[in-house]
Amino acid sequence: MYITGLKLHPIAIADPPLRSSYGLHAPFALRTIVELETTGGLTGISETYGGDGPLAALEAAREHVLGRDPFQLTGLMASLTAETDAAAVAGGRTQTYLVPGENPLDRHMRTFAALEIACLDLIGKAVGKPVCDLLGGRARDQVAFSAYLFYKHAGGGGVGGDARHDEYGEVLDPTAMVRETRQMIAQYGFHEIKLKGGVLDPATEVATIQALRREFGPSFPLRIDPNCAWSVETSVAVGRALQEDLSGGGYLEDPCAALEGMAEVRRRLMAEGNLTPLASNVAVTCLADVPAAQRLDAVQIVLSDPHYWGGLRQVQTLGNLCGVLGLGLSMHSNSHLGVSLMAMTHAAAACPHLTYACDTHYPWQTAQDEVVAGGRIPFVNGCVQIPAKPGLGVDLDYDQLARGRERYQKIPYRKRDDEAEMRMHVDPDWKRILPRW
Ligand SMILES: [Mg+2]
Repeated sequence: MYITGLKLHPIAIADPPLRSSYGLHAPFALRTIVELETTGGLTGISETYGGDGPLAALEAAREHVLGRDPFQLTGLMASLTAETDAAAVAGGRTQTYLVPGENPLDRHMRTFAALEIACLDLIGKAVGKPVCDLLGGRARDQVAFSAYLFYKHAGGGGVGGDARHDEYGEVLDPTAMVRETRQMIAQYGFHEIKLKGGVLDPATEVATIQALRREFGPSFPLRIDPNCAWSVETSVAVGRALQEDLSGGGYLEDPCAALEGMAEVRRRLMAEGNLTPLASNVAVTCLADVPAAQRLDAVQIVLSDPHYWGGLRQVQTLGNLCGVLGLGLSMHSNSHLGVSLMAMTHAAAACPHLTYACDTHYPWQTAQDEVVAGGRIPFVNGCVQIPAKPGLGVDLDYDQLARGRERYQKIPYRKRDDEAEMRMHVDPDWKRILPRW
């Protein structure tokens, strides 16, 4: 079996006006659907970051992909990652300032991941096995996800005649956030809760977590992620205020920037007997970051993500490394559709050492934008089941894919820019300032 075709489908999907320390989500998020065709007539699929940059990177990989045996993933990774980006390495850890998907340090891993996942889908289809069973066999048949909550403005995403229904309304205070959470849990059955913070002043975000704890009780672990919006001082103060509320399986995610800052927060909380663990998808973005994070005790939980860690096998490697080093493992997410959701589910299923429910933006997207044949992937009791089908277990709906491509052609932007959206719709003078508080 050899790869004979690489098809790239840039698409746009409606996205509600969600807030984070990066700014505001645009009315449409960008994604790319990848198809690999083979001599045997099989097609493997994957989903990755959208816009011009990821598309150009995949296009540049074409010569390494065509004619390749999809089983030879080691060789594919070596050919894509051989060239190092000296400028990016010299620039250091830029994830603090860039949205995931734009970190030059993991650009080759992102490109490889999109191709690896499509190759695993092909291999699964060729041998008649689900992807997680190609990776040594699954550790679980279903994967738990968390309720991923955002402060948001009114609106369901999209614009004009292509606007989506706003299920949750405006959510800019603790009371509205409790309502949003209740709605999302009623619909999906999640058992863990993640709040995207770094949006309102820390006192209001602390009050939001406290309101969620009062409403749902200690059997729903809580996590808050302000994306580095806080100083070390503020991070310690919030950690102190939320010690009880984040206990029982919760965590504080990237409260401040860089391993050194996180280590300082950890030292000061521990000195007070506060064991709240710190999680990161910003200070730790590749395997080489993990030993330092552990040595400094800066991060106790690493957030994996097959899209930028380099695919499913790298996530499995990360999981094993975290197990050896005594670190926890969770999973990061970006706005995505069902193909990505299945890749994340297979990755999580193949990681014995997964210690938390994974993040997913899936509840923020709609059936109108889904490109998976048969529509939205169901959640039962907060979990996604591994389908009894070969490969990722999902196929493309080509009419829906064509609609996604049309939407992409209509919108003017080719890159995510939450800061520009924020200036356009909320505050003309807004800038991302780190730390803001
Ligand atoms: Mg995060």
